[in-house]
Amino acid sequence: MTVESPLADRIEATRTQALDAIAQASTLDDLEALRIRFLGRKGELTTALSAMGKLPAEERPRIGALANEVKRDLERRLEEREQALGEEALRRRLETERVDVTLPGTDWPRGIRHPLIQALREVVDIFRRMGYEVIEGPEVEWDEYNFTKLNIPPHHPARDMWESLYLSEDMLLRTHTSPAQARIMESRQPPLRVIVPGRCYRNEAEDATHGIQFLQIEGLVVDRGITLADLKGTLHALCAAYFGPQRKIRFRPSYFPFTEPSAEVDVACAVCGGARCRSCGFKGWLELLGSGMVHPNVLRFAGYDPEVYSGFAFGMGPDRLAIQRYAIDDLRVFRENDLRFLEQFR
Ligand SMILES: [Zn+2]
Repeated sequence: MTVESPLADRIEATRTQALDAIAQASTLDDLEALRIRFLGRKGELTTALSAMGKLPAEERPRIGALANEVKRDLERRLEEREQALGEEALRRRLETERVDVTLPGTDWPRGIRHPLIQALREVVDIFRRMGYEVIEGPEVEWDEYNFTKLNIPPHHPARDMWESLYLSEDMLLRTHTSPAQARIMESRQPPLRVIVPGRCYRNEAEDATHGIQFLQIEGLVVDRGITLADLKGTLHALCAAYFGPQRKIRFRPSYFPFTEPSAEVDVACAVCGGARCRSCGFKGWLELLGSGMVHPNVLRFAGYDPEVYSGFAFGMGPDRLAIQRYAIDDLRVFRENDLRFLEQFR
């Protein structure tokens, strides 16, 4: 638009000057200063327009239209430049703050669960899949629950089977997870299907197969019509799930005060399958766990009628399970915390 007038020339001159300045602005602050300088209330364009009042009336619309056009033009250019500067600033930031992914990272050593805890969890999971409930009992236990309620009265010779660590006259570190059997039976009515994982303590000399502190997993089932066949089926299912279906197990008569009849369960040597070899000490079979039908006295102590209810119980060490599965010959490796050994269970 061309308008022959000194004011129009002044407005055009302001436009040229402003566009030049905007093009050269290198920061957002510069742009803001230019906006104030040209378009602000006391800006150059505004000042120029204030002179419009002196114009003849017929010229005013044309000058007004020009001024508006220049104003919109400058606003548009300011906006474009602002956007361009913003993008450039972002690009510069991305450039300077870029992460060098080729730099060596900080190495965080990742731990693993201890192999015995892995074994314990695996066994607990196997039973959970069979519908068992997982419960825990106290590690500091009353003598009464650890022995008496499990059919081991004071002075019963069976108490000699465990070198118990007494804390007081009638309180000790539990020697097995079995006291949880008495606790759960006292507080509930059958049917019961529970598994009790936990730590136990015995004052034993440390050797290849014994330690002062060990993990145990206890199982208890009580209901009407539970038989030895249920126990055998359950332990077969456990061994098939843990060792694989090919691995043989056998039941050997044994004695525990709180079960009758009682049976030890052995697993065939991983190396020879029971044929006897060097790695199993030419025994062919290795002790795995103890089990049996819950003794009627134990049921009676809990207030259950042994004529109505029967049940089975078993207790095992995840360490035994783990050494039979991995063919390890010394339990102590689990406690030595030698990373060369532990790392293999990653
Ligand atoms: Zn063998």
